[in-house]
Amino acid sequence: MGAQHSVEPTGKHWSFLRKDGGDLYIVTRWWDPEERKRRESRAKITPKEAAETSAYLKRRRKLEALSTEIPCFNPDCNRHIRTTPSQKRDFLISFKLKYDKAVLPCCSRECREKLLALLS
Ligand SMILES: [Zn+2]
Repeated sequence: MGAQHSVEPTGKHWSFLRKDGGDLYIVTRWWDPEERKRRESRAKITPKEAAETSAYLKRRRKLEALSTEIPCFNPDCNRHIRTTPSQKRDFLISFKLKYDKAVLPCCSRECREKLLALLS
């Protein structure tokens, strides 16, 4: 088996506000899978922007807390698919209703094709 999947989360950005010497910054951190290290960028913002950003981040964090992950159904893959509770409900209900024609969630077209090959 040559299939090797990266286990690092990709495309995950984490933003927060930081006070530094009386100035306010919005700091964004993310994992760079190519450099294999955590990267950080920061931008100076005004107190008004900070208040707006803080409200935005709180809203987004609430949404993120609600979202959940389901595993990719290709058995050779250990990645997860981020989904909202309503998407997850849709997956499970369609799985139950159309059992033999179920559309099993996969993280990529490649995994779906592998899974379909295994099922046929
Ligand atoms: Zn997969």
